[in-house]
Amino acid sequence: MLSKSELLQYSRHIILPEIDIEGQEAIKGSHVLIIGMGGLGSPAALYLAAAGVGQLTIIDDDQVERSNLQRQIIHHASSVNQTKVESAKASLLALSPNLKVNAIQSKADKELLNDLSENGFSAVLDCTDNFDTRFLINAWSIHHQVPLVSATAVGFSGQLGIFNQTISSPCYQCLYSNVDLPEGNCEDQGILSPVVGTMGTLQATETLKLIIGLSVPATTYLLKYDALKTEFKRFGVSKDPSCSACS
Ligand SMILES: [Zn+2]
Repeated sequence: MLSKSELLQYSRHIILPEIDIEGQEAIKGSHVLIIGMGGLGSPAALYLAAAGVGQLTIIDDDQVERSNLQRQIIHHASSVNQTKVESAKASLLALSPNLKVNAIQSKADKELLNDLSENGFSAVLDCTDNFDTRFLINAWSIHHQVPLVSATAVGFSGQLGIFNQTISSPCYQCLYSNVDLPEGNCEDQGILSPVVGTMGTLQATETLKLIIGLSVPATTYLLKYDALKTEFKRFGVSKDPSCSACS
């Protein structure tokens, strides 16, 4: 049930017929797992908190560095040297004091992910920057049937995909079954600050759609963003029958 003050706070959602009171109650009742509190995790977590998600579990093992402030907008100049999860938790609670934040300062390894299995997550957001962790999160998402909202960003480009919505959906690893893994991350290749914000914000949008049932499970696609050309392109993704993760 939404309180009187919540009805006021989320009135611009509730006025949308696609959301209404029912959808806002679903958002309030949801628990979202966000792995990585960097450039993608920052806007994703802030928008999910602002939108009224009831509970967030956030995972990161890093500390805030000055070079993070160029794009990781959940952290502030005063957060340098704090752990990213503590800094993020403070920002999230300042925005939304009733939000439950479970802040875990750890690497997202297999052991930690398995400990999180029984939490009834609505979605897992992959906001990390390396393939080992991405494939681990993908495997966890398949095994626990939690939809995976994945994004990457480097340079002037970004990529977004929603995987593992159903057993017959393609998974993140299906993308790379027959191609070499692309190299590079923001640290060695650079990133235009708001590009990562665009992709993290898209992750929040897709997560809210999953929570209120506005997603179309049959269509798995990859969205590519080219900031230099100001262009979005969508590519269909199909399940790879020889994928070692999902088949
Ligand atoms: Zn697969």
